[in-house]
Amino acid sequence: MSASDLAAVTGLPEAEAQMYMEMAANDLEQAVALYFSMAGDNQMNDIPPPAPCSSAPDSPLTEALSILFGPSPSLSSLPIAWTDQPIAFSDPTFVKGIPQLKNGPCGVLAAVNALFVATDSTDLYSLLLECVTRCRPTPASPLLLATFPDDSLSSFTTVPFPATGGEASVVSYLTTRPLGLLMFVLSLIATRTPALVRQEAPLPGDTFQPLIFGPFSLCGTELINLILFGNATPSVSAYDHRTNAKVTPTPTPVGMLSYDSSRDKLPLADHFLNPTTDTYILHGGDHFTFMFKDSDSDSWMHYNGLPPNRKLTLCELNNATDAPPVAPAVHKATTYRQEIGEIESIVQAHPDDKAMPWRMRRFELCLVNEAIALEDAATPQRPADVAAPPKFVLETTPTQEARWRCVGCYSTRYKTMCFGENPPGCVVCKFCGAPPLNNHTIYVAFSDLPLATKRRIDAQESKVLTTLRTRWSAVEVEVAGKEMGSVEGCEAPVF
Ligand SMILES: [Zn+2]
Repeated sequence: MSASDLAAVTGLPEAEAQMYMEMAANDLEQAVALYFSMAGDNQMNDIPPPAPCSSAPDSPLTEALSILFGPSPSLSSLPIAWTDQPIAFSDPTFVKGIPQLKNGPCGVLAAVNALFVATDSTDLYSLLLECVTRCRPTPASPLLLATFPDDSLSSFTTVPFPATGGEASVVSYLTTRPLGLLMFVLSLIATRTPALVRQEAPLPGDTFQPLIFGPFSLCGTELINLILFGNATPSVSAYDHRTNAKVTPTPTPVGMLSYDSSRDKLPLADHFLNPTTDTYILHGGDHFTFMFKDSDSDSWMHYNGLPPNRKLTLCELNNATDAPPVAPAVHKATTYRQEIGEIESIVQAHPDDKAMPWRMRRFELCLVNEAIALEDAATPQRPADVAAPPKFVLETTPTQEARWRCVGCYSTRYKTMCFGENPPGCVVCKFCGAPPLNNHTIYVAFSDLPLATKRRIDAQESKVLTTLRTRWSAVEVEVAGKEMGSVEGCEAPVF
């Protein structure tokens, strides 16, 4: 099942089809269902012509909504993922779980839900009050609550945050009304003040962009920082985006781990990797979920609030004993010159093994040969105190496969689009004429690979492991006694 199958069924461009496949954990049927449910929303939104926002241009409503959705938002065209989402703890499988109804507000919901679990909150009123208090520009600034007297965004107004007297109605609104989520978010923005949010949110040199964007109405990290820290900066990295200086950690009960920080190799700020409680927001690339250690069972629980993978999963995190990593004072790239015999790339799993858990498979490896090493000669040499990756010795001729792949061709594949695969019996590469001697890929079983290569393959195969290993370098995930990657049928959490 692939994105191209989905593209064929729905007529979506491949890149969008890929997003749906990821959201549906590569299940084609669910991806199709998801597509039609979301396409349905858009059609529904298309029927009534968008009514312009009824308030005056400079009203607090216009200002607050344009911060979220862009200039001159029309009330009838706002994404229902955001306007029909109470903060309701109504998941029958998890008493503290907020079911997410539509794709979009996952970042905000994961942050609110994780904070609720981490602080052992008993009610949303106190949680919202704490968040609003953090958002005040100064200790003397007013605490504001967004309210919707007619249950409609057009009657949006802000009132001073009620003392305990208003508790019941605030909680009942948040948990039962479709605008509950926006009540939470707009209260934070109103208290922070729209002007300050507009100042904090853009990256330097950039103009202000709405905090909710794109065809799926996703939010960036500004709203998550607003919830956790009371400011709308977009940066979550360990280094200041203007000065590159290391960011001073701000203690937080809720951490965050991100798949992107592994791919970009840019670590998240230390406070995200070392929260004051065992609770982490998890960013899988497109979707936010969260994970926490259950104090009763001492097990880790992962919660994904969005269908089709809505689920509370109990996972054992084995080998999760490292102290929280601390980002180095200065970020530096760690690419060193490649040496002959090192693995240049992991080409693919053996075609016959693809149905097995990945750690049962054989992998085709392209090794660095003389030509590749020469081409890499300008890259700095690995310092003596940095452990070198393991090296392989090429057998003189391809032993494993009748077909063979030419390393010379494969290593220049991005320039030539030639992947160097030769049919059985071919004595010289049919593309470049080179013989296979010291010039062919090899197959090695996962169990025989050096640890560093196993880690690389784990990272290619599993977003879950990749993300968790930004915090615990050697963690293994086990669900119901089955280890991910090693045992068939492991129902690993979906990020
Ligand atoms: Zn060749």
